[in-house]
Amino acid sequence: SVKRAGGNACEFFETSMNQSAFERLVLENELREAVRDDQLVVFYQPKVSMVDGSIAGSEALVRWRHPTAGLLSPGAFIQAAEECGLIGEIGDWVLRRACHEAQQLRERGFDLPVAVNVSAMQFESEGFSQTVLEALQDSGLPPELLELELTESTAMREPERVIEQIEPLRRLGVTFAIDDFGTGHSSLSYLTRMPFDVFKIDQSFVRDMSQDEHARIVVETILAMAKSLKLKTVAEGVETHDQHQALRALGATLAQGYLFGRPMPFAELVSFASADGQDSVAG
Ligand code: C2E
Ligand code: MG
Ligand code: MG
Ligand code: MG
Repeated sequence: SVKRAGGNACEFFETSMNQSAFERLVLENELREAVRDDQLVVFYQPKVSMVDGSIAGSEALVRWRHPTAGLLSPGAFIQAAEECGLIGEIGDWVLRRACHEAQQLRERGFDLPVAVNVSAMQFESEGFSQTVLEALQDSGLPPELLELELTESTAMREPERVIEQIEPLRRLGVTFAIDDFGTGHSSLSYLTRMPFDVFKIDQSFVRDMSQDEHARIVVETILAMAKSLKLKTVAEGVETHDQHQALRALGATLAQGYLFGRPMPFAELVSFASADGQDSVAG
């Protein structure tokens, strides 16, 4: 990115050229088309209660139905979207879509919060708060059912500004989560003052905690900190019953991972929510 190249435009250009300038150009053009031609879709991954396995909400995760390459994950295009300035447009679209579908779920009888990922560039852009308000108003979704996820590095880049931006939305009822928590460089003193509601424990710690004592200590420390700050916690990337049991014993609030459900189209989320309570996946 421009930052990594030290803000030197020529250096940035040369680095990109060395990598794959042509491929990147093709990708960017295709991404513009994707936004224009409605090729993006939002999938939803359930979050479940650690206590009884019931569905407690979902996370909206963007996908790209590429005309020839098939269904692409954000790993294949989010960074390009950031670098060519399309992330704001994509992020706003995901936000509106997620609010709209969460409201549709409500109309089917399920009052479940939806979490939306917000990139640093989108969050720092001028009209972001206004976009959130409009997405809520246009969909009719109560603010309490919208959660915004900022990564730890986004949250800690300019903490004072982040606090200023979050507080009015939070007073409205929108909740905020720190995503991929444990991987960034949080200042402890800021962390205790940041108006967040949820810590999402990064999946790398969940994956490693049974073999790696350090990972387990990170998980325990995050959970202890959340408890003192009276925040909720989501353990990401839970794939095995052992991980689930360990995290439950340590007191995490919610779990999200392949063990409970993969990211799925909206229609499947509706079925998932409907089946919930009849045959609990968590056991
Ligand atoms: P994230 O927000 O940390 O989302 C969790 C990622 O972990 C998702 O990958 C999800 O599919 C994956 N995951 C969930 N459970 C498991 C599991 O049990 N095992 C494993 N191995 N992985 C699991 P996905 O959908 O590929 O998204 C990757 C990242 O892309 C997200 O990480 C998020 O940072 C970003 N992203 C996704 N959608 C958006 C969006 O609408 N806007 C922005 N700015 N970023 C997005
Ligand atoms: Mg997330
Ligand atoms: Mg995450
Ligand atoms: Mg992640």
